[in-house]
Amino acid sequence: MRFMLVVLALISCVAWSAPNSVAILQYHHIGDDTPRVTSVTAQELEAHFAWLQENNFVVLSLADIQKRLAAGEPLPEYTAAITIDDGWRNVYRNGLAVFKKYRYPFTIFVNPKLMAEAPEAYMSWQQLRELQDYGANIANHSNSHWHMTWREASESEEAWRERVRKDVVEAQQLIDENLGEQPKHFAYPYGEYNQALQDILEAEGFIAFAQHSGPWGAQSTMTAIPRFPASAQYASLDTLATKLTSLALPVVEYTPKQPLLSDGRKAPMFAVQLAHTNDFNKGQMNCFAGGKVIQPSWQGNMFRVNLENPVPIGRSRVNCTVPSQSQNGRFYWYSHPFIRADEQGRWPD
Ligand SMILES: [Zn+2]
Repeated sequence: MRFMLVVLALISCVAWSAPNSVAILQYHHIGDDTPRVTSVTAQELEAHFAWLQENNFVVLSLADIQKRLAAGEPLPEYTAAITIDDGWRNVYRNGLAVFKKYRYPFTIFVNPKLMAEAPEAYMSWQQLRELQDYGANIANHSNSHWHMTWREASESEEAWRERVRKDVVEAQQLIDENLGEQPKHFAYPYGEYNQALQDILEAEGFIAFAQHSGPWGAQSTMTAIPRFPASAQYASLDTLATKLTSLALPVVEYTPKQPLLSDGRKAPMFAVQLAHTNDFNKGQMNCFAGGKVIQPSWQGNMFRVNLENPVPIGRSRVNCTVPSQSQNGRFYWYSHPFIRADEQGRWPD
């Protein structure tokens, strides 16, 4: 009996199972008369949903994934989630037929203040209620879609914190009042955050979604969960397939924690500590920065990337990938976001 247990324990150590990895797709507009850079056509959206179905993906709600990751439960081998930012009216007009056909769960992140100010541009509460019948959760994208980390000229740190906290809480109240209590999920406008904002959201009970790419795994920072943009040039299923099947690296720690370059460096570095490198060859990791391919330097299970060229003013990111040895055709994927401010501490939308 004891011998059997030892054998079973050995087998379970040797058998390598893929780490929990969820590809979250991020959409904005659905249509062919909106800015292409943030749009998919209804045909492209349907092609994505059909691909998920044909490739046996399990599409789960963000709340379901959150619960299972917290409980340490294994997720299906191919798991995806669907998110749509801003709540544009074209999402209802052009997406409804696709949502009805596939009945996948999805999350729409809305800005209640903008909905009230520009009802012609955004979905109404009634339309959102209707989408709830076809799998939608409605979540928080701030009240008015501003650059949340920006302090006003004469604003103290304390006043900024209170303004931000109020904005998030008031948006959530409007959402819950109109649609019933929704999961406390927040998507950063423009994907921008800092540690203070993360702390405020965590204190208010939120998990939060960013806009750098990579799969959501057990080790992801729960107030900076990555998502894959799926609009425009990213809508192609050739490249999207690699992202949808990507694996989460076993990240233990990373530095710097915040995207904003605060030390005046224009060509930043970052370092990532991994729990292990069991399933890939370190020499095969490539990091992509502004059209350049960089090989990171390794020290034990930590890799470090030094950018040679300055990053542009605004948001940018470095993506690192390495092929899995056990999961044929799948890549580990890690993305590090940066924001470089101009001399006024600002950057473009
Ligand atoms: Zn947005």
